[in-house]
Amino acid sequence: MVKVAHVQLSSCCGCLISLTDTYEKLLEILNSIELVYCQTLIDVREIKECDVALVEGSVCLEDHHALEVAKEVREKAKIVVALGACAAFGGLTRYCKGNQLPKPVNSSFSPLTEVIKVDYSIPGCPPSPEAIYSFIKALLNNDEAYLKPYKLLAEMPEVCGCDLLYKVVNKELCMGCGTCSASCPTRAITMVDGRPVVDPVLCIKCGLCSFQCPRILYPSLLEEIE
Ligand code: SF4
Ligand code: SF4
Repeated sequence: MVKVAHVQLSSCCGCLISLTDTYEKLLEILNSIELVYCQTLIDVREIKECDVALVEGSVCLEDHHALEVAKEVREKAKIVVALGACAAFGGLTRYCKGNQLPKPVNSSFSPLTEVIKVDYSIPGCPPSPEAIYSFIKALLNNDEAYLKPYKLLAEMPEVCGCDLLYKVVNKELCMGCGTCSASCPTRAITMVDGRPVVDPVLCIKCGLCSFQCPRILYPSLLEEIE
């Protein structure tokens, strides 16, 4: 039985809700794992030793408890997964400036990937139920080929809709498929003359558009073939 912990840092709990939105597939997952820690679902007060920790939320740098939890997760979990945009890239918390009661001092938030070593990042705000289910199945089956893009994402603490411009459009790789626009949860991407145009005001830095773009990994795939 694979021991799994769910840890929530500065997040809205939407990633866990997305996981439970898998309905009957969740029961299938629960048959293959032992949930050893999840403050929302089970009454266990301390993070346990586990095989996989699914961590959602970014880390508030002024909150010593949050920093300790992040460190503890790394010590107790063999595999740490940043679940969702906030843990993986900062997401909406990139825009936090503090000055709000009851803790006006809490103003700086970093993605988990900037605070501890993370093994895999799952993009999305939230990641879709299907994406979370497929990721966990791949993890349970040790499917390295499927997991590779998630591993690459874990090494990228910053994402933005602008990545499409820098890494795809400016490199003559865009084929105008519109997948990026369809995947954006805030409709920040409009296709103009067959190319994506990103509204930076609407972008919440969730990483989905880059993850879904079929051409963004093209240069590194070519390098592998060569
Ligand atoms: S443009 Fe949309 S999909 Fe891309 S990172 Fe921003 S919010 Fe996410
Ligand atoms: S998903 Fe990639 S290839 Fe398709 S339109 Fe967007 S940037 Fe271009």
